[in-house]
Amino acid sequence: PRIGKRRELKTALETFWSGKSDESALLETAATLRARNWQRQKDLGIDILPSNDFSLYDHLLDTAFMVGAVPETHRGASDLDTYFRMARGAGEVSACGHNHSGVTALEMTKWFNTNYHVLLSELKPSQTFELAHNKPLADYVEAKALGHQTRPVLVGPVTFLTLSKPAIGGFNTLSLLPRLLPVYAEVLRSLQDAGADWVQIDEPVLANAPGGQIALALTEAYAHLAREVPGLKLMLTSYFDVHDANLDLAFSLPVAGVHVDLTVRPDVLEKLPSLAGDRTVSLGVIDGRNIWKADLNALLARLKPVVSQLDRVILVPSCSLLHVPIDLAQEDKLDSDLKSWLAFAEQKLEELAILKSALSGEDVSAQLAENAAAIAARKTSPRIHNPAVTERVAGLTPPMSERQSPFAERILKQRKRLNLPLYPTTTIGSFPQTAEVRAARLQHGKGQLSDADYDAFLKLETEKAIRWQEEIGLDALVHGEFERNDMVQYFAEQLEGYAFTQHGWVQSYGSRYVRPPVIFGDVSRLKSMTVDWAVYAQSLTDKVMKGMLTGPVTMLQWAFVRDDLPRSQVCRQIALAIRDEVLDLEAAGIRIIQIDEAAFREGLPINPAQWQSYLDWAVECFKIASAGAADETQIHSHMCYSEFNDIIRAIGAMDADVISIETSRSNMELLEAFIDYKYPNEVGPGVYDIHSPRVPEQAEMERLLAKAGQRLKPEQIWVNPDCGLKTRGWAETKPALERLVAAAKAMRATHPVWV
Ligand code: GLN
Ligand code: ZN
Repeated sequence: PRIGKRRELKTALETFWSGKSDESALLETAATLRARNWQRQKDLGIDILPSNDFSLYDHLLDTAFMVGAVPETHRGASDLDTYFRMARGAGEVSACGHNHSGVTALEMTKWFNTNYHVLLSELKPSQTFELAHNKPLADYVEAKALGHQTRPVLVGPVTFLTLSKPAIGGFNTLSLLPRLLPVYAEVLRSLQDAGADWVQIDEPVLANAPGGQIALALTEAYAHLAREVPGLKLMLTSYFDVHDANLDLAFSLPVAGVHVDLTVRPDVLEKLPSLAGDRTVSLGVIDGRNIWKADLNALLARLKPVVSQLDRVILVPSCSLLHVPIDLAQEDKLDSDLKSWLAFAEQKLEELAILKSALSGEDVSAQLAENAAAIAARKTSPRIHNPAVTERVAGLTPPMSERQSPFAERILKQRKRLNLPLYPTTTIGSFPQTAEVRAARLQHGKGQLSDADYDAFLKLETEKAIRWQEEIGLDALVHGEFERNDMVQYFAEQLEGYAFTQHGWVQSYGSRYVRPPVIFGDVSRLKSMTVDWAVYAQSLTDKVMKGMLTGPVTMLQWAFVRDDLPRSQVCRQIALAIRDEVLDLEAAGIRIIQIDEAAFREGLPINPAQWQSYLDWAVECFKIASAGAADETQIHSHMCYSEFNDIIRAIGAMDADVISIETSRSNMELLEAFIDYKYPNEVGPGVYDIHSPRVPEQAEMERLLAKAGQRLKPEQIWVNPDCGLKTRGWAETKPALERLVAAAKAMRATHPVWV
């Protein structure tokens, strides 16, 4: 990981951006982190050190920068300025909420099925490329000066083009490959001239479904590079998954080595001797996506017979270690049991070194015995296994994941009870987490603010938010979520089976890091988690107050999940805990319960062949969580993403009474999904893009609602923002929601009300 053990990169970036430090200070921190990482890897017994794995913001942006794919609009005063304008946008936001300079950040998307986000370049048919910034060479030379021979890492040309956005519809960015390859050849030649003998090229597109286009592009690319840069050895690297056809393809290309992620595809190991030929095989044996200690003895038993049949093997983590925390040794609050079961990035390197020694015939029996003891202790620990939970999951029956009556009957009972107008208005849950709210939480955490004072403060914030919602005329109210640090952590902290790290940060994008909780054992709920707040909030108003929960799939997806149970099983345990919470809220008089599934889509496997089985259990878990509710209780769900078309049927199968989804940025494009599939329940297509400080006009929201009306019946439509408002300020939130309520009223005026 490039972020530094104490998040040094974040601090350096943010001080630089705020103008409190200069370019040289930032670059110095970056160089220190690189030097430290090389030395540390060497010390831990790593033979082949990577270079160009560091990035100030994102490695895909670095690639765009390297090949000169820089939009004219983003050119700044210096290279670094340009780089950050691409990463973050630029320009002052005016009081009226508009970004006048119009330099927006490049669009972001998730890097395959990880929670790391890359920046997408927009490429046009006339796009040309040039070697604009040879960062791979600079890093290689820098390492060499420190005495390290490194293997530079590049994002491959086919992956770069596949992950770029076409500037005009219908344009295939892969058609730019012939123009891009000479630049790659130039970079490789410069590395070879400087002394590199190997270069690693990452082509994670190999994980995607094998397609004629990608196969042709890979064939063309590697033939070109082999021809233009003879003698340089390329390690073609795939990870996260690999299709059989793509595996065959990878081993047919003119490259000196191929890396395979054996944690996702363990079955490939035995096939390698017949695939490899005279290539070096890079065995991705240590899981780069999880934090559990590897079972080294089991691994060795499988590796030994295969390794003896191969000419040259390299032992490697399955993928880059960007996705795991850095060093377990920093965690002094984790108990020793749990700690003995974990391995962060540095510990994973130690595991590799032990495997290497064992396979080279050195005596590492002490380390192997220690590993075996930890693995055995974990298997049988009573801390992990809760027979009551296992029994409950085993006792799940299909009726438990079905509501009492079908939607058509439920909705009549709900309408009668809730008595909401047509086009009901609501928000997604959180209200602005202002500096005061964050300061109070921090002070409370440090013990400077007593429990009672903190509680009083939160109650007051909640009351203010409720009064304000009443005043502007919202229909279904929320309490504002001021008491929550994070939508997952808040629940995880109250559940058994979860643990938390102090320094387990993982880069999400740029200087934004997350610290996922660890699901280490059977999950259960000891007592209600949100009822007190919901009841307090409802007591303040006659309007309906929504109870807010995070759904089981999201609780799973945004955590490091135990690897000794199938994910589906862990998810069912969480679903049962949420189910109990739903029932408690209902019993306490809460009439609408929203179960957020923000991460439902990102759980989709890369391989479409595995989609259905994921969707089946994910939908089942949502239904386990929600279906205990009586017909009269209205279940909402919220999902914040815009690529819906491929999973719309699964969303329908979740059978929430109301879903709110993100649509405003895409101009309701998402509702295209509803052309072929008539969504049966109610929908709140977001009409206010909360990701931007911009305050939309009322007319704009009305236009979006009218557009939604082309696909949905008026009585199906709710009016709400795209997502929670916690990252916004009150200055934008207030006018935006006032206009949102006005837009709903205007829509109602043109339609009859319910009778
Ligand atoms: N209820 C949460 C909120 O409003 C949902 C956040 C999310 O979907 N990411 O903040
Ligand atoms: Zn959301």
